[in-house]
Amino acid sequence: MAEPRCTVCRHHDRPEIDRQLAGGASNLGTAEKFGMSKDSVRRHRERHLSAALKAVATRRETQGAVKASDRAEELYSKAQRILEAAEEAGQGQLALGAIKELRATVELLAKLSGELDERPQVNVLNVQSSPEWLAIQGRMLEALAPFPDARVAVAGALEDMGEVEA
Ligand SMILES: [Zn+2]
Repeated sequence: MAEPRCTVCRHHDRPEIDRQLAGGASNLGTAEKFGMSKDSVRRHRERHLSAALKAVATRRETQGAVKASDRAEELYSKAQRILEAAEEAGQGQLALGAIKELRATVELLAKLSGELDERPQVNVLNVQSSPEWLAIQGRMLEALAPFPDARVAVAGALEDMGEVEA
């Protein structure tokens, strides 16, 4: 049995409180919302919040990180499609050189994803400011130099992700 004196454990909204705490709600905010003291909430979070709920919160962070690499991969295939179109339009030589460069970005992406899988606690902010990610951006824009339209499109997509200038 949990300590019966914990006001949070005895609170009739405990399932909701636990859910919010696991989702990253602050001790103070939760305390005010449910009319308890901040110390009670902190003690409850430290001692009584179930391992299962903590795991849910950790999984959410992991999903955020995986999403970042998914988006980078999406971006890559988008750039690749544009290059393929350039190739079909008869700019084969230029497109080939550019695709070669883009291939290197795949290796960086693979490295990035691998690192994320090994370190699931890495968050999106860290990914976007990581040297690997900045290198990917640089190489993509460099590779697209012969294709101004494609370059603008990719730079726009990168900007949507919150970084880089065209
Ligand atoms: Zn408790």
